[in-house]
Amino acid sequence: MRDPVTAYVALGANLGKPAQAVCDALVQIGELPETKVVRHSSLYRSAPVDSSGPDYVNAVAEIATRLDAVELLRQLQLIETAAGRERPYRNAPRTLDLDLLLYGGARIDSARLQVPHPRMGERAFVLVPLAEIAPGLVPPGQLDAVSGQGLTLLK
Ligand code: ATP
Ligand code: CA
Ligand code: CA
Repeated sequence: MRDPVTAYVALGANLGKPAQAVCDALVQIGELPETKVVRHSSLYRSAPVDSSGPDYVNAVAEIATRLDAVELLRQLQLIETAAGRERPYRNAPRTLDLDLLLYGGARIDSARLQVPHPRMGERAFVLVPLAEIAPGLVPPGQLDAVSGQGLTLLK
């Protein structure tokens, strides 16, 4: 059997009960086949970027998984769908968004999956929670560059 791969998943939600949706998703990710949640960040609140609607709740999880990257994405999308995710238009408000940020050291550039996630480096709501659980993965200069984006720890 293949060795487990360390991967990072960004969680976000801004419709319904977003904090509950993120917490539920953390449990569901840990219940995926051949997958466990190693650690996860605090929950954060962020204003929508290029989008509208209520504030987001965001977090990042580190997982260890034996699923390949495409199957992991498929399983994450099933969790989104079960949470009521709809895609009426780009950047629409959503009940749950699960993005695969990193999958080991893999670089993937297919139509359905790009890893590292191509926009992760510009987003405080990804970089700050990622730096909380894996500081070595986020260069300080990159964190500084997004520090102007409003992001607060959720109590
Ligand atoms: P963004 O990708 O800018 O965060 P989004 O999360 O709102 O935007 P979605 O509508 O959730 O975008 O996803 C659109 C498509 O992105 C998905 O159908 C999926 O195939 C593709 N995709 C490519 N790379 C990834 C990745 N690393 N993680 C999640 N989805 C990805
Ligand atoms: Ca996203
Ligand atoms: Ca997504």
